[in-house]
Amino acid sequence: MRVKRINHIAIAVENLDDAIDTFKQILGIEPGEIKEVSNQKVRVAMFDVGGVYVELIEPTSEDSPIYKFVKEKGGGLHHIAFSVSSLNNVIQELEEKGFIWINKEPRIGAEGKPIAFLHPKSTKRVLIEFVEEGEE
Ligand code: ZN
Repeated sequence: MRVKRINHIAIAVENLDDAIDTFKQILGIEPGEIKEVSNQKVRVAMFDVGGVYVELIEPTSEDSPIYKFVKEKGGGLHHIAFSVSSLNNVIQELEEKGFIWINKEPRIGAEGKPIAFLHPKSTKRVLIEFVEEGEE
């Protein structure tokens, strides 16, 4: 099996503090510590919902990859992330099948793990991220 589970569901927001307040009420739990991911120019808050994170992401700069999305759509559901044991295997296999990667070189995500994104062009318009979790 390629994917092990859903790692997180990411929601892009205009104002992280305001969004945290909203999702605290919806989910009835507190988020973990707010993290700054400098290579993506975002601030992130994660709610642990039974081992799957609901991740709120706020752009911190106009050249953040999610800045345009938030500006144009006012935020909303942004991507779904799946856990895999080997990112390089997934990248190679899906590329051979003709899928388009946004980044073929894994980069480090908010959890400190390697990540890569498939382009929505080849995924029925859903931005999909893979997170390498290694073997358990
Ligand atoms: Zn993500």
